Amino acid sequence: MDNCRFVYHLSLQKYSNFFIMRRAKRLSILFFVIGFCTCLFLIGTVRFLSKFHWGKITECSEKVVFFPVGNCPDCRTITTKYWNIAKLNDNNTIHLENAQRMGIQPFQTNQDLENNIESFVFRSKLKKLKDCDTYKLKELTHSYPYLVPKAVDLLDEIGDRFEEKLHAINIPSYYMLISSVLRTKESQNGLGKRNTNAVALSAHMYGTTFDISYKEFLPLHGKHPREGFCRHDMLRHPLGEVLTEMSNEGRCKVVREKKQACFHITVAN
Ligand SMILES: [Zn+2]
Ligand SMILES: [Zn+2]
Repeated sequence: MDNCRFVYHLSLQKYSNFFIMRRAKRLSILFFVIGFCTCLFLIGTVRFLSKFHWGKITECSEKVVFFPVGNCPDCRTITTKYWNIAKLNDNNTIHLENAQRMGIQPFQTNQDLENNIESFVFRSKLKKLKDCDTYKLKELTHSYPYLVPKAVDLLDEIGDRFEEKLHAINIPSYYMLISSVLRTKESQNGLGKRNTNAVALSAHMYGTTFDISYKEFLPLHGKHPREGFCRHDMLRHPLGEVLTEMSNEGRCKVVREKKQACFHITVAN
């Protein structure tokens, strides 16, 4: 009888152990599922919130303000005005005529330029471009920051007149971005990769010609925006109006280059 009770007791204990283990297993699965779902929910929430641009973002203590595309007050102001802009499509022959008349003899190689540039600057045949109040140089990969003095004067005047246009409609100053300046035959050749023998003649080789980007203008804080934030490309309208006026005054030749998204400008007399 006792023996029988003992066996009964043992099997009861075994059964309850089995039951507890099963419960623990279930609980651990439940906790795992809850944890997994919480993680998914958090990831989803973060991704959802990051889709919003919160009107403006300020970084650090200095006031660096970026606006989402379409939400920039300066660009909005520009789109409410009428801008008198010509087609700005002077062809390469016209640019070359002016470049060859007003510029230097092209440098054959980059080494050639590097060996002689100091003497050109010393004799005031070329001037070095530096960042200033109205423009900044982009990273120049196929060109050097030098222009004949008349072209530097032209660029300075474009900058001043562009700034005046902005101030006239209560917009603060912005930097224009210079994307290409003086090229050697070698660097020009590097741009036309397909045919290395035939160097396309470019006005950039004469130190008379520079490119101003029209897809980005830089606010005075000098910081580039992240993807999705305004690059102030609407400022191409006041700049286009300045170039139209100066082109009509016979001061320059201009073409709007779609591929490079820039105004290609050659000094004229
Ligand atoms: Zn803008
Ligand atoms: Zn150009």
